[in-house]
Amino acid sequence: MAANKKILVLPGDGIGPEVMGQVRRVVDWFAKHRAVGFDLNEGLCGGAALDKHGTPLTDETMADAMDADAVLFGSVGGPKWDDLPFEKKPERGLLRLRKEMDLFANLRPAVVFDPLVGASSLKPEIVQGLDLLIIRELTGGVYFGEPRGIETLPDGTKRGFDTQVYTTPEIERVADVAFDLARKRRNKVTSVEKANVMHSGVLWRQTVTDLHAAKHKDVELGHMYADNCAMQLVRWPKQFDVIVTDNLFGDMLSDCAAMLTGSLGMLPSASLGAPDATGRRRALYEPVHGSAPDIAGKGIANPLAELMSYSMMLRYSFDLAEDADLVDQAISKVLAEGKRTADIAEAGATTVSTGQMGDAILDALDRLGR
Ligand code: NAD
Repeated sequence: MAANKKILVLPGDGIGPEVMGQVRRVVDWFAKHRAVGFDLNEGLCGGAALDKHGTPLTDETMADAMDADAVLFGSVGGPKWDDLPFEKKPERGLLRLRKEMDLFANLRPAVVFDPLVGASSLKPEIVQGLDLLIIRELTGGVYFGEPRGIETLPDGTKRGFDTQVYTTPEIERVADVAFDLARKRRNKVTSVEKANVMHSGVLWRQTVTDLHAAKHKDVELGHMYADNCAMQLVRWPKQFDVIVTDNLFGDMLSDCAAMLTGSLGMLPSASLGAPDATGRRRALYEPVHGSAPDIAGKGIANPLAELMSYSMMLRYSFDLAEDADLVDQAISKVLAEGKRTADIAEAGATTVSTGQMGDAILDALDRLGR
């Protein structure tokens, strides 16, 4: 691979820099042993940027993000900045990145590592070996549709309303992402809506069906109503490979799927934008968890969600499936050998610090991958 792919690293606040520190060690390992070299540029976002520049994201950092092949993000926020006005809050930095990069496809994998099968609230046989990916449309639908509001009716009662709305291009672009990514996995897409009761659902289903026939016939496609999908996710989640759905249903289904895996410290995510002329998609990879102020500075945060975000970056932005697999195998090996940070500790396992988890991952990589 050419060594000139640009990654912007934004560790952020709280445990963000702590977990990112361990991922930087893994990035260095890959540069040294696997010739996976990136030009890394580190910037400030969130409270860290507020303290230094008075804004949660400077225009320069925003420009760096637009220019990067991928952004690797930590987490932002903390009690220090809680009383600031809404437009100054650390979280505005992340929202600005998502908006200006036009990240319309949110990817949330639910992967169950064998040694953590007991952490799920479901029976081991239901979740063992689980590996599914939910793709949620992130910039349209009922959270943004107009008209929306609360109005007072002539009789003094009130009426609250939102509009669920999708256009053909909005559906096509997120479905394109789903089909493209399914090809890098097990080649199966389930498209989820409520075409039985919603017009936007009828259009969603028709559009995905037409797109499939026109461009993606090599990928298996199925359709499912959202309520049934929620049920199927807890009944037999292993039937799914890639699920693609709208903003509202994706919000709920991805949280539901996340809990199949058991722990917040183990959940990565990615958000992708439209491809440019060269086919490169803007992309931001981040753990699902926040800045965890309650444990920040203690050296006990679990770095694995951030590390899995890096693995997703290798797989989805750079087509380096073998290297991504190597990261995932190293994680699996370390967990199987009984090393756990406090959040995933269990009887019989050794509780390790953030840095010791990093050491263990590097050691596993040495044994697996050179
Ligand atoms: P949180 O995810 O930061 O923490 C929830 C709980 O999970 C805490 O008890 C925390 O200690 C634990 N936890 C989270 N990640 C962990 C990890 N890697 N290892 C071990 N334990 C972990 O959510 P919160 O407490 O609701 O929010 C804290 C701050 O983070 C707030 O300022 C919030 O706005 C911000 N936040 C930021 C993001 C983001 O940057 N994308 C996302 C969510 C919350």
